[in-house]
Amino acid sequence: MHTRVGVHIRMRSSLTELLQRADSLDLPFFQCFFVPQETGKLIQVTNEEVRAFLKVRRTRFKDLYCHVSYWVNLSSLGNNGFPQLRREINFAKRLEFTHFVLHAGNAKGAINKNPGIDALARSLNDLFEQERDISVLLENSCHGNLAVGSDITDFKWLLEKIDKPERINFCIDTAHAHSFGYAITTLEDQKNFINFLDETIGIDRIKLIHLNDTAEHLGCRIDRHSIIGQGIIGEDALKNFIMHPQLEHIPLLLELPDLSVEDELVVLNKVREW
Ligand SMILES: [Zn+2]
Repeated sequence: MHTRVGVHIRMRSSLTELLQRADSLDLPFFQCFFVPQETGKLIQVTNEEVRAFLKVRRTRFKDLYCHVSYWVNLSSLGNNGFPQLRREINFAKRLEFTHFVLHAGNAKGAINKNPGIDALARSLNDLFEQERDISVLLENSCHGNLAVGSDITDFKWLLEKIDKPERINFCIDTAHAHSFGYAITTLEDQKNFINFLDETIGIDRIKLIHLNDTAEHLGCRIDRHSIIGQGIIGEDALKNFIMHPQLEHIPLLLELPDLSVEDELVVLNKVREW
């Protein structure tokens, strides 16, 4: 089995379906939401389903990634969704998910990002007090204005406010980086971006790459993923980026548009062959 590449699986109905999809794609790990964007509600499962899931999960997978829902906005000065985050984490822990991918949100209610970064730090400090064994990966976004973590330097300031900075790791999304304005199309661009990542957050803290292409131009700040090879960043650039000696050890996760298993396998196999 190819061990570096996983995908985001859309949870439609049940945990069984999740495992079936992972099997059809022969995945070493996967990511999913437990709060589908369509419903905004945590999925319902029975104890029996959980037991059946765990039986397969324990023999088949080591790392599993839960993508925290977008309703959680830890940088907001008002209702930040921390209780919602707790519910999602508790749910995913029952299923023995190991990693939590989280967007930093935006400094809603503030006039600039700084109070938002402070709020985010407070929430994460609380979370790390309560949770000793989960891995949190903050993901870069692509939105402008008060969005925290589109500009990677926000994460540098965040790290200075965290009691246990060793608990924070990052997921870099290639489509979001491009949409925010970080060029990664040429080798020179890639070298500059990788150096910048190392200076701001440190390459050692990057534990996952969301390998996505985008339909949007550099710096447009719109989040629209494309199938790898059909977007603006392009296949060669993405391949060179993830095969860069400083990044080649980092797991990859594809967040593709809704595709059939067959079509998804075509993309997946292409990346597996790189
Ligand atoms: Zn992503």
